[in-house]
Amino acid sequence: MIPFNRTCQEVTVLVIAREDRDLPWRERLALRLHMAICAACPVFERQVITMRNAMHQWRNYQEPDSGTDADQQRNGA
Ligand SMILES: [Zn+2]
Repeated sequence: MIPFNRTCQEVTVLVIAREDRDLPWRERLALRLHMAICAACPVFERQVITMRNAMHQWRNYQEPDSGTDADQQRNGA
């Protein structure tokens, strides 16, 4: 068996874990090797990265005017 062989399920867990912490080099290498031979996991990885970027932009967008909507609703009623 190849020592760095991973199932799609294991790779999914690694992709999500990578959002929170740095992976050991063995896991990063296993991830890259799996991405090279798998059709589904690179698609999933792109979705996770897109989601992360969207969440980052959403947080930055919300911060400057938080609470404005509640004030407007109170004044309008
Ligand atoms: Zn896979």
